[in-house]
Amino acid sequence: MRAYERLLKYVTVRTPSDETSTTVPSSACQFDLAQDLIREFINLGLPKARTDEKCYVYAQIPATPGYENCPKIGFIAHLDTVSDFCDKKIVPVVTENYDGRDLPLGGSDGRVLSVSMFPHLKDLKGRTLITSNGDTILGADDKAGVAEIMTMAERVLTENIPHGQISIGFTPDEEVGRGADHFDVEKFDADFAYTMDGDTEGEIQYENFNAADAIFEIKGVNVHPGSAKDVMVNAALVAMEINAALPEGETPADTEDYEGFYHLVSMSGDVACAKLHYIVRDHDTDKFAARLETLKEISKQMNLKWGLGTVKLTIDEQYRNMAEIIKDGNMHLIENAKKACLAADVTPLILPIRGGTDGARLSFMGLPCPNLGTGGHGYHGPFEHITAEGMDKSVEVMIELVKLYAEMK
Ligand SMILES: [Zn+2]
Repeated sequence: MRAYERLLKYVTVRTPSDETSTTVPSSACQFDLAQDLIREFINLGLPKARTDEKCYVYAQIPATPGYENCPKIGFIAHLDTVSDFCDKKIVPVVTENYDGRDLPLGGSDGRVLSVSMFPHLKDLKGRTLITSNGDTILGADDKAGVAEIMTMAERVLTENIPHGQISIGFTPDEEVGRGADHFDVEKFDADFAYTMDGDTEGEIQYENFNAADAIFEIKGVNVHPGSAKDVMVNAALVAMEINAALPEGETPADTEDYEGFYHLVSMSGDVACAKLHYIVRDHDTDKFAARLETLKEISKQMNLKWGLGTVKLTIDEQYRNMAEIIKDGNMHLIENAKKACLAADVTPLILPIRGGTDGARLSFMGLPCPNLGTGGHGYHGPFEHITAEGMDKSVEVMIELVKLYAEMK
């Protein structure tokens, strides 16, 4: 079975995760896909595949006899999708021999997948294009990754490709940032892994942001404006002063590639109290630390100026740049991914991620884990699309990786 045929099946099983939920998994519907996959593993001849009570799926393909000492390679994808554009039935649409032009998606919302919005569509001419009907997401993020891993497993098992142990993991709740929370690295049992959760086939990602959440809470002194001279502290104005104290031109809208930023996510306030919520991002560890220092210094200065206790700053570090782990003796993961792409006739695309991945957190949990492309585009919205050929290539890259690590007996 080709990977896209699996994708067409999986996307009809709705699995939006739920940010507001405190349960694990955040939505019970994710078990539906997990159960389907367990049945599929059993049919492939892997009866030991299991899903745990938190909806993590683990399976291992035992090494070919004689290959037990090869490195144990892992592949990971996520079961959930975003919850946006997910309130209607997902209807995948297959357009064979796509003409590379604007494509009306056909749903009730009348959306058109347009070349002006996605210039790369021209390059997909002649391929089998898969979209939703425009009313919903497609869910290729990350069911394409799941489908490609299952297809890789089927091929390894049926084509007698010699291999070391291959570990497979599917996680819930990636889209709400909790995919790595309950991942059992020991149970997964691999020396390293790749998440299959990128865009274009051939993508190899191992540099992501260092990330923190920063909240300024400002307490004002509210008196009658008529008698406020030298007494009133207007919390809303202090908040504006804090933002003005940040270096100019360092917002997401001003930056690209390896440039970091301060991003004001939300603000609220009046005279009595105000709140500023930022996220802070930087690839470079030292620059990231310097950014956090800048925030602390601003907080200190404001308290000196307006009175101790006026400003409270809370910083929460979220995730770190996995490059630190990959560059520390694990660059073979990147070199081999490049080789695998070339062997699969795909151009390797190594670009920094301006975000995070579950792989970043897993890397710091002892499982070095770069991210590979799945062939998809336009994720998290109704224009999500992917090609059958791009998915085939991504499977091919995995197979080549399996072969490369099988040579290391
Ligand atoms: Zn994803």
